[in-house]
Amino acid sequence: MAELGRFAPTPSGRMHLGNVFSALIAWLSVKSLGGEMLLRIEDLDTLRCSRENAEILKDDLRWLGLFWDREQPDQSTRSAYYEQILDTLRQRGEVFPCWCTRGDLKNAPNAPHASDGHPIYPGTCRTLTEEERRERFALRPPLWRLAVPARRVEFVDGHYGPYAEDLAADCGDFILRRADGVFSYQLAVTADDIDAGVTQVVRGRDLLSSTPRQLYLYQLLRAPVPRFYHVPLLTAPDGRRLSKRDRDLDMGLLRERCTPEELLGALAFAAGLLDRRESVSAPELIGLFSWEKLPLADIPIEL
Ligand code: GLU
Repeated sequence: MAELGRFAPTPSGRMHLGNVFSALIAWLSVKSLGGEMLLRIEDLDTLRCSRENAEILKDDLRWLGLFWDREQPDQSTRSAYYEQILDTLRQRGEVFPCWCTRGDLKNAPNAPHASDGHPIYPGTCRTLTEEERRERFALRPPLWRLAVPARRVEFVDGHYGPYAEDLAADCGDFILRRADGVFSYQLAVTADDIDAGVTQVVRGRDLLSSTPRQLYLYQLLRAPVPRFYHVPLLTAPDGRRLSKRDRDLDMGLLRERCTPEELLGALAFAAGLLDRRESVSAPELIGLFSWEKLPLADIPIEL
């Protein structure tokens, strides 16, 4: 089967150097196996995302020479498909409606917290009777959560090795659709990767802990599972994580300051693919790529 990788950027602003790094590694990983790349714009959050940003993002990827072979429809246009997936889970009794507000959860006494800091859902609405649900439906629309079992989900990351989480203890019943109808990242990303037949998911290490939740969804949806590879994050020279707020490292300024080849050379050198920092094009890096060369620790970078 041909390899299929994907770019899944969120157009909530300009890409920063860290996003470019993950995109480069994703592209090299699939191209080094002779595979194809898919682009999907993850614009679920229509308040933070825009068409204009999506176009700029595509232009930035082309400028870098990171061309894609196929495009999947933007997530903002896929509600009917996500609803169908949610419905499948609903029919199997895997999800439940929830009326708890963020305030309710924050104020819950001794609420344990997941690794990413969100309070673990205490299960309040999971055990409501049909009668209680009917009453609440009449008042306002619920959000929908996946009822997770106390189960350890393990997988072997292609770069970081074995990783496991206990769904109930480490993450809790997570949201699939918000009360305003917006589908969650976890549902949409899984549904879209399944639909496209993605065979490898390559993305920043910050998403490693989302993977067990997504794997559980693959299992419930009886879908073949891609390989997951997580990429170290880039940091400022002082170790601070880069974010979209770091204007000095966003693509707007980077395109003024360097050529695509200089930028790719700096990233490839940081990734251990080059012995010295020199200008290089994306296709020239394909033959030099291997996961073993990439460090595990986050990478401080200065341009
Ligand atoms: N859209 C996500 C982001 O920009 C990436 C999702 C993924 O690769 O799974 O952070």
